[in-house]
Amino acid sequence: MAPVQIEMVDPLIRAFHDATLPSRDERRENLSNILTQCANFAECGTTKPRSELKVCSKCKLAKYCSQTCQKSHWRSGHKVQCTPPGDGSRESLPLKLAERVLAVPVLVDKLLHCSILTLDLLNDPSNSERAVVKLNCTVLGADVQAHMQRVFAGLPRDEGAEVCLSIAQIKRAPMEEADEKTRAAVADMRARLGEQITADRPMVTFWFVSEEDDRFESADDDEKPESESQKAKRLDQWFSSSMLLPAGAIAYMATKPSELVRSAVMGNQLVPISESYLRESINNTIRLDTKNKLRLRAYPTVARK
Ligand SMILES: [Zn+2]
Ligand SMILES: [Zn+2]
Repeated sequence: MAPVQIEMVDPLIRAFHDATLPSRDERRENLSNILTQCANFAECGTTKPRSELKVCSKCKLAKYCSQTCQKSHWRSGHKVQCTPPGDGSRESLPLKLAERVLAVPVLVDKLLHCSILTLDLLNDPSNSERAVVKLNCTVLGADVQAHMQRVFAGLPRDEGAEVCLSIAQIKRAPMEEADEKTRAAVADMRARLGEQITADRPMVTFWFVSEEDDRFESADDDEKPESESQKAKRLDQWFSSSMLLPAGAIAYMATKPSELVRSAVMGNQLVPISESYLRESINNTIRLDTKNKLRLRAYPTVARK
């Protein structure tokens, strides 16, 4: 008997999603303009557009304002964190992909709207000075159908199969929870934006953390203490980005807006815009991008024993 195929995605939904995505050139341009801290920021305090920093030729992840910074950072711990190029292991992928979210305006918009709810800026815009939006990032099998077929057939997860970025959790975290480098980067951005920051347009900070890292931390609690190299590795498992809310965004969220959602199963529904709705909406946009226009999908390299 032929397997039953269920078309999960309404063609109209797919067309709508495709229409909201940036072109390849727009995406690249956005990516190169993202204000990024030198990986050696604790020492040099440099923030520049991403394209003006030099990338570590080995890991293609750490970015530096100068050779001096690269050498200094290598000695102070990057040599243990630096993983070879390629798509990367399942563990290192979430943050590599998460950075690219910042190049996609439709996703950044959703994050900004979400920050208003997560930080409760409707009640107190100054919460944005005391707390960050912590995003736990992970990767999931991109082809759900293939994955389910394996599960039903009793096969293990295909470690080399294509994965896509997924935001597992969005929550408010006090500024003190962020490490020193993140807090310094936030202060730097705050000084840079200066008077552009107002009660209507506060600066919000997104703190992207790898979900694998959180698990690693809790598992380590009452067992043997972390080694220096483990600690260095763990501290590298995040990055942050601060930005101004668009004018009118808070006033818009104060109206308790809803969005019309078209579902192949349920038909049209008016859904209130909540934190979980926005998170799912981001994950859906990524999942629907089957042609990988957003570069939020990748093939993990499988570790050989
Ligand atoms: Zn490196
Ligand atoms: Zn530097």
